[in-house]
Amino acid sequence: MNCKISRRAASLSPSLTLAIDSKAKQMKADGLDVVGFGAGEPDFDTPQHIKDAAAKALAAGFTKYTPAAGIPELRQAIADKHKRENNLSYKPSQIIVSCGGKHSCFNVIFATCEEGDEVIIPAPYWLSYPEMVKMASAKPVIVETTDKTEFKITPTQLRAVITPRTRLLILNTPSNPTGSVYTSDEVRAIGDICVEKNVLIMSDEIYEHLLYDGAVTKSVASFSPAHFEHTVIVHGFAKAWSMTGWRLGWCAAPEPIAKAIDAIQSHSTSNPTSFAQKGGVAALTGSQDHLKIWLAEFNKRRTFAWTRLNSIPGLSCVNPKGAFYLFPNISKTGLKSTAFCARLLEAEKVAAVPGIAFGADDYIRLSYATSMANLEKGLERIERFCKEVAK
Ligand SMILES: *Cc1c(COP(=O)(O)O)cnc(C)c1O
Repeated sequence: MNCKISRRAASLSPSLTLAIDSKAKQMKADGLDVVGFGAGEPDFDTPQHIKDAAAKALAAGFTKYTPAAGIPELRQAIADKHKRENNLSYKPSQIIVSCGGKHSCFNVIFATCEEGDEVIIPAPYWLSYPEMVKMASAKPVIVETTDKTEFKITPTQLRAVITPRTRLLILNTPSNPTGSVYTSDEVRAIGDICVEKNVLIMSDEIYEHLLYDGAVTKSVASFSPAHFEHTVIVHGFAKAWSMTGWRLGWCAAPEPIAKAIDAIQSHSTSNPTSFAQKGGVAALTGSQDHLKIWLAEFNKRRTFAWTRLNSIPGLSCVNPKGAFYLFPNISKTGLKSTAFCARLLEAEKVAAVPGIAFGADDYIRLSYATSMANLEKGLERIERFCKEVAK
């Protein structure tokens, strides 16, 4: 037997979110009445016209290899989306379709980072970013933020951590796990510094369409040609079209980076699934009517859960203007996030994700991609739990 693990693999932390999730699923399977707030995906079905397009492609035998970077029709549809919605002019050759937004992040980091490079990651962060950076032999530089700045990094904080070795800044707005949204001015200020210091930005815009209370987002690429040249956009179909299981995402990048990603992909996954790509074309070119309905529903839940959370003694939560997560501060309960979530699951059968998974131990993440009935029941239980802890 020779089970020596590479240094690269051994340096990874196993996913805490998955550990909680599997425990909750096991409890459910054992017949226990578990309320799950762990979901990282919308609870809506993929719109029918998208499923129909993929089914039709499958039936017609569209089942072979495609170009590694995706079918021309989809790369064009993505370029058109960026023109239409973001006023960004990408050529189809600058668009690389991948097996999900996560895969796109991985490709971008692998195409641009190497040993000795530093990657600035504001915390709370999406938990895969630092692990991907480590896999690329680069160094994550974590910049902590708190609810006092709505979890947004300030220009002063950013300037303080940029060094000659800084290669990349990872920006994710609207954010997973906090739901925070940078204003246009805030995005521009961050972008200005990166342009000045010649730092590339990986802008994860997967929650672009999930906004509330009149919040707006503007891609950092859109402020000037220099911003455009310093940005790689990561995006995908998972959230706004509820296609998590399809494994389909993309990046939009300056030409040399797009070429490098195409090469990496052609020697690793090859193309994303052929008929899923036809679903992607339908998603971008077809009706977007589903989104209004989903946003109304998400917003109803968000408003209810946010108000309810802030009424619970010991908890406080900033108003998240995007995505489908709440990120309450639990520090007044005296518990750190892992203990809080383990005891909450044990005592009240409510599954939440400890903030430490996202680099923020005084918080927990609750997803409201679940029914109002679940939210009402689960928040009742969280209140009872907090009162018990305070005794
Ligand atoms: C969901 C998500 C993604 C992409 O997910 P895929 O399923 O791989 O498309 C990327 N970034 C963030 C922050 C996400 O929450």
